[in-house]
Amino acid sequence: MQALLDHARSFHRQVADAGDTYRRLADGQSPQALVISCSDSRVVPAHITGARPGQIFELRNAGNIVPPRWAADASGEMATIEYALDVLGIRDVVVCGHSHCGAMSALASGRDLSLLPGVEAWLSLVRPVLAHRADGDGDGDPLERLVQLNVVHQLATLGSYPVVRRLLDGDDLRLHGWYYRVDTGVLHELGEDGAFAPH
Ligand SMILES: [Zn+2]
Repeated sequence: MQALLDHARSFHRQVADAGDTYRRLADGQSPQALVISCSDSRVVPAHITGARPGQIFELRNAGNIVPPRWAADASGEMATIEYALDVLGIRDVVVCGHSHCGAMSALASGRDLSLLPGVEAWLSLVRPVLAHRADGDGDGDPLERLVQLNVVHQLATLGSYPVVRRLLDGDDLRLHGWYYRVDTGVLHELGEDGAFAPH
């Protein structure tokens, strides 16, 4: 932790050396995308995309979950999504799942989470995803399949938010599904055929 603390405490020197780059951030923001990803420390949207401060709006939580409407009215997720789309005018939304995801692994295992009531309640929001696992042909890594199904599920849930629905109906919003491999850095993108293809 000490190295992180030292870096943060001296960061202002880098900012001072960067000329106007950071000073201009005080004028406002117009990020190009909202990226909804897992909180996992190995998945850093700005790192993956090469985004600089001001370029992407991030929403991160355990399992890159978009709460369903009935659970979202007072959520940070819904507030962040509304702000990103309605106030900042963002027109591209990415939901990014990833390999080796602890949240999805816990969901798949069905393990007793009674000592982690917050995790248990949070993951219960996406339990419907489990029902779709058997729909595939059974090939491949089961966790990878679950993570990708979860991304598709979250994109569908996004579509139930009024602000998202309105923009989609007006053909004014693009939704993107990503699956990121933390061990190779390979990005798989959801295509119109419903499959995730690597780059
Ligand atoms: Zn994760």
